[in-house]
Amino acid sequence: MTPPMITGLGLHKRFGSAVALGGVDFSAAPGESVAVTGPSGSGKSTLLHCLAGIIKPDAGEVRLFDERVDSLSERQRSHLRRSRFAFLFQFGQLLPELPADENVALPLMLGGDSRPKALEPAREWLGRLGLAGKEDRRPGELSGGEAQRVALARALVIRPAVVFADEPTGALDRATGDQVMGVLLQTVAELNAALVVVTHDPLVAARCDRTVEIRDGRLFDHPMAGARR
Ligand code: ADP
Ligand code: MG
Repeated sequence: MTPPMITGLGLHKRFGSAVALGGVDFSAAPGESVAVTGPSGSGKSTLLHCLAGIIKPDAGEVRLFDERVDSLSERQRSHLRRSRFAFLFQFGQLLPELPADENVALPLMLGGDSRPKALEPAREWLGRLGLAGKEDRRPGELSGGEAQRVALARALVIRPAVVFADEPTGALDRATGDQVMGVLLQTVAELNAALVVVTHDPLVAARCDRTVEIRDGRLFDHPMAGARR
């Protein structure tokens, strides 16, 4: 078995008296896609945020390969989030005043690349995701599916180790959502990245290698679901 890329062990997190995670173990291997399902308020986003080093769990540990993520300083975690992790949300959270190529180039520029150096791979990713010719469009001049593919290009441009997606197709119609999910799975496989995708949609989950369910802050495996391999 391939050793896991991202691992959470014994994760606990409470917000006041609310237990968001009550002892969760989770791992994903390179190239593996894992769907996280479960009712609203069950702890799905909290799990994603703990794994990605956005919030610190109250107890338990998170590792990227052998490196502890949860015990890093805020500065180190922020560097890790910029260099090794990618995020995709329901609404792409693109910067409305920037054209598509600059939106995609942004993470590279934040990492220290010059504008021309960052724009080259940015435009390449836009082309790979079927957006050639739309590099100059601002998010408001793109359809929902196109904007989400720009957000995907921006997520992938740093060649992340792990892609975290929280309801990435939640705001799209079925056909567009299928298409975005298709390019997401394909590109993650090409990069040999791990994908952790929160979704309410059983059809999205079924396209992943594996599905886990969170209920009341506890994680359950779904041995039958998502048997793509
Ligand atoms: P899901 O993504 O499955 O809908 P969340 O992980 O967002 O669930 O939330 C799990 C629980 O933790 C819920 O009871 C929610 O209200 C609570 N919670 C999440 N984030 C916060 C926060 N920042 N402050 C207070 N409570 C929170
Ligand atoms: Mg959520």
